[in-house]
Amino acid sequence: MEKLKSRILQDGKCFPGGILKVDSFINHQMDPNLMMEVAKEFGRLFADAPINKVVTIEASGIAPAILVGYIMQLPVVFIKKKEPKTMENMLTAAVHSFTKDRTYTVCISADYLTSNDHVLFIDDFLANGNASTGVIELCRKAGAQIEGMGFIIEKAFQQGGETLRQLGIRYEALATVESLDNCEIKLR
Ligand code: 5GP
Repeated sequence: MEKLKSRILQDGKCFPGGILKVDSFINHQMDPNLMMEVAKEFGRLFADAPINKVVTIEASGIAPAILVGYIMQLPVVFIKKKEPKTMENMLTAAVHSFTKDRTYTVCISADYLTSNDHVLFIDDFLANGNASTGVIELCRKAGAQIEGMGFIIEKAFQQGGETLRQLGIRYEALATVESLDNCEIKLR
């Protein structure tokens, strides 16, 4: 997606350890016009998939996911990173956070992820694929089917893409970062 790529080159910032900061337009301050275009692009790319639910993980996935849900007219559910005391029928999975370098338990209510669900997972980044494998685990526990995964940005120098390809999961990324070496953003 050309508009996204030029915005990454213009406003993205490299951080040591292969981190791309896009918090001026995606995951802290957000550009709603760009986000809507991102959502429309996901809607176009997955128009042929038999999806009945959009799933994301808090916090940065929620903004694109709710817009994708609006565009595709589907319900949206987000996986929580803290286990609420009040959640009923909780499904859990362990996820290692790349940016925070810690492992935490993510959860979703089995009321909102069931064996009737055909899921499109949306997130801001695909890095090592830990969030994605956590989602795969939750869907397996719920008996839900993953029909596709959409990421705003994939970092191709980390192994998440390879993991998803090996698992046979269809995924799309709207911008692919080849390298952040020497703090220079190289896009595919
Ligand atoms: P993964 O689980 O694929 O290793 O990492 C994906 C998650 O980590 C995303 O939900 C995203 O929030 C965060 N993340 C991974 N790499 C980056 C990055 O370079 N920049 C930012 N801002 N977040 C990242």
